[in-house]
Amino acid sequence: MNHRPFEDWLLEDQPLTPEQERDLQAHLRTCTSCPAIAESNFALHSMRMVRPAEGFTARFQVRLIENRKAARSRQFIGTLILILAGLAFLYWLAGPVIQEAMRSPAQWITTAVGYLVFMLTSIQALSEVSRVFLHILPDFVSPVGWFVIFLLVSGLGALEALSIRRFTRKPQGA
Ligand SMILES: [Zn+2]
Repeated sequence: MNHRPFEDWLLEDQPLTPEQERDLQAHLRTCTSCPAIAESNFALHSMRMVRPAEGFTARFQVRLIENRKAARSRQFIGTLILILAGLAFLYWLAGPVIQEAMRSPAQWITTAVGYLVFMLTSIQALSEVSRVFLHILPDFVSPVGWFVIFLLVSGLGALEALSIRRFTRKPQGA
């Protein structure tokens, strides 16, 4: 949800035109985070009426603005990491296609289209499966069950690693 310019209006606590006020009220009805700022503004106004404490309210406002700014930059960094990870993952997926394209440029389009279809269907299938699992599993599996599953999976992984090592070592010994 886009909180701008409503968030800025609330943080700056500036006088609004009737039209802006109407837009703001409309946004506050649908938003989950802005009403908190509006409420703190309201609390500060009533506090000012009861007992002027400008130093405190100013500090409070500054802290609120800093918190929002920090949240925004955290969101930005998080998004950046997500994009970079996504690009790395795509590169990893597309690696074979690039190698194939280098080897035989004539097959490039066929391979690319085939790979794209494969990629999209796997992603779709994967998300579908994980969605179903996420919905169903927590109802059936207790925390202890999760721990057992974790042990089984890590145990299988260790076994697989051992068998791969034995398998690769054999030809060297023989
Ligand atoms: Zn909002």
